[in-house]
Amino acid sequence: MSQPISKEAIRKLALTQGFDLCAFTKPILSSEHRAQLDAWVSHGMHGEMGYMAEEVRLERRKEPESMLEGIQTVIALGMKHVPPPYSLEEGEDAKGSGAIAAYAHGDDYHDVMKKRLKAFARDLDTLLGPHDQRVYVDTAPVLEHALAERAGLGWQGKHTLTINREHGSYLMLGELFTTAEIEPDEPAEFHCGSCTACIDICPTRAIVAPFVVDARLCISYLTIEYRGFIPIGLRPMMGNRIYGCDDCQIVCPWNRKAEVIELDHLKPRDGNILPELAELFELDDEGFRERFRKSPIKRPGRAGLLRNVAIAMGNSGRGEHIPLLIKALNDSEPLIRGHAAWALARLCPDRQKGEIREALAYHSQHENDEEAGREFHLALKKIGESDS
Ligand code: SF4
Ligand code: SF4
Repeated sequence: MSQPISKEAIRKLALTQGFDLCAFTKPILSSEHRAQLDAWVSHGMHGEMGYMAEEVRLERRKEPESMLEGIQTVIALGMKHVPPPYSLEEGEDAKGSGAIAAYAHGDDYHDVMKKRLKAFARDLDTLLGPHDQRVYVDTAPVLEHALAERAGLGWQGKHTLTINREHGSYLMLGELFTTAEIEPDEPAEFHCGSCTACIDICPTRAIVAPFVVDARLCISYLTIEYRGFIPIGLRPMMGNRIYGCDDCQIVCPWNRKAEVIELDHLKPRDGNILPELAELFELDDEGFRERFRKSPIKRPGRAGLLRNVAIAMGNSGRGEHIPLLIKALNDSEPLIRGHAAWALARLCPDRQKGEIREALAYHSQHENDEEAGREFHLALKKIGESDS
């Protein structure tokens, strides 16, 4: 009779490869998680992440067992990251600076985790003998928070992220799917209780109900995934958040004890902690590529990031940004031109009204992008209204 596989031996391998958490489950989702996903997609809460709603992909997300022939086990893995090194107030008060989600302060965790997962997979082969296996990091078809919950790694908080009793929610998740049969762990118990801190603090009211985040309202989605003009009504609520948002995690009582940890590969880069908005806004394509090499912040591209920076400048109340915003009315990217126009109208101190109106009027005549043109029009209208 073959010996049962030692989970402790596997956990040890995971820790050796740089993971902090390792748990096991069957590749099956609960009916609750499936229903949650269906409802989220049918209400259009995935925004422009169209791949989430494609029928085939949606079905695959609901059936992790379809991701690998002969799959028996999902190994859910977690890696801690450094918590934000400032409080909610300190982050928001840093008006000339932009707030970046803590997980993105260092190198791109996807790359780091993928390397570790592959090394872990090789170690597993040696331990268990060859099995078919696949690794995933933040991959659309994998409902990773649901699998992590079933594996007991942590429960899904009301903000939908995974919370571990000991380590809180500053975690990055990855999965290894394998044909090896390993005894599942007990699912995680729910420990949010009656707390609603994350729901109450969300600047854009994106947590529309416990466990339901409407991506179309979520600053993480808007600043990273969304490629278009950000809805005007949401811009003032974004404050100085230029890449992601940690608010719902910062207020979570389970993160109170989150410790600052020493990390090798994911060490925060000083320049990514509350960087100056003006410095970022001056980046050209080459400068952007260089500044964010190997960083997740390159994801929205220069146009997306500078769009977010323009909004933060508009929300800063700081007139010193006006010259850079006027210069940006001539940028090659319509997204940047349009948001710069909005920011100018929002900042517009009385003594600079004439100068700003003139710049907007001049550039609006040469604007050939429809959406940017609309932004110029609205900005001029706003300044005009404040005259009367
Ligand atoms: S990340 Fe920010 S915007 Fe999104 S749900 Fe959390 S607090 Fe709200
Ligand atoms: S803030 Fe409260 S409700 Fe939200 S995830 Fe944390 S414990 Fe749960």
